[in-house]
Amino acid sequence: MLADYAVRVEQSRGRRYSEPKHPYRNNFERDRDRIIHARAFRRLQSKTQVFTRRYSDHFRSRLTHTIEVAQIARTIAAQLGLNVDLVEALALVHDIGHPPFGHSGEKVLDAAMRKHGLFFDHNLHALRIVEDFELRYAAFRGLNLTFEVREGIIKHSRDYGAAQYPQLEEYLLGQKPPLEAQLIDLADEIAYNTADLDDGYEAHLLALDKIRRGVPVFDKFYREAERAYPDALEKLKFNEAVKGMLNRFADDLIRHTRESIASAGVRSLEDVRCGAHRLVRFSPQVEQERLGAKQFLHENLYFSPALAPEKEDAEKVIGELFDFWMKRPQDLPGAYQEKAEQEPLARVVCDYIAGMTDTYIYEQYEKYVRL
Ligand code: MG
Repeated sequence: MLADYAVRVEQSRGRRYSEPKHPYRNNFERDRDRIIHARAFRRLQSKTQVFTRRYSDHFRSRLTHTIEVAQIARTIAAQLGLNVDLVEALALVHDIGHPPFGHSGEKVLDAAMRKHGLFFDHNLHALRIVEDFELRYAAFRGLNLTFEVREGIIKHSRDYGAAQYPQLEEYLLGQKPPLEAQLIDLADEIAYNTADLDDGYEAHLLALDKIRRGVPVFDKFYREAERAYPDALEKLKFNEAVKGMLNRFADDLIRHTRESIASAGVRSLEDVRCGAHRLVRFSPQVEQERLGAKQFLHENLYFSPALAPEKEDAEKVIGELFDFWMKRPQDLPGAYQEKAEQEPLARVVCDYIAGMTDTYIYEQYEKYVRL
């Protein structure tokens, strides 16, 4: 049952190119399926989330992270009466614009672009992927996704000002995104703030004691697990604690979002869009816990010396390949050389690199730079 403030597929603003209706899948289901069948989606399997395969091959990749976000977001959306098909499509597409080498890749690519007076932004890149780069249909370029999915790609995690981004005007930049899109950002936070503790512990980069001292909410659930299962293996108590934390965050998000919808007097999608603030949010207490966990991961994991080789690789490989193709555009694939006739070369090189998996970009580096 959809709540009054949910997005209704029959009221969608539709696709850029009109298409015949599908006999038994609605437009948001079809968008979800188009995303799953996209090339850029498959490439997420070989893109780093936090850890490369250097440590182990059961760490999360961008693909498995994406699936975890979809799972969490679907569960919360159903409780709030939101449109689960739209939520699932948005969760599956939310990281599709990420370059190789995780967040350091994004930073390096942005720095390379800034030298040419441009910049790299993964949400804008994701929009270009689904609008232009995916070639699957004879009738049009891109995936021809509905307005609501494209809008969510742009607006789920931040606000873009109309003055700075005139090309995004159609996405109602002055309005808040629907709750389905607002939810994605926080489901993403829940997913990685718990999963990265898990992967960091498994990688032996985060010791149990350190996590217990640095993340009180984790420690609370770990103590509960110790009381309930005194003889269990440490890793199983660890899992119980991570699970407790994840459930607490998800429960709180459901409860507090319900409250914020009620206290804002929101009754329709229009009310959501015209509201002064985003309504999907944690309680102040859990928001503090989330920020605490995030800060702990920043201080102890993302910038730890153990992960420095990944960062150095990102700088070296992306930076040097970027410069190489700027100097030798004739070594780009034909389709990209053609694009460079219409767009700045730096943009074209950036698009090419951003689409690569970690594996593929290393191959390119071997081929062109480390001759
Ligand atoms: Mg994500």
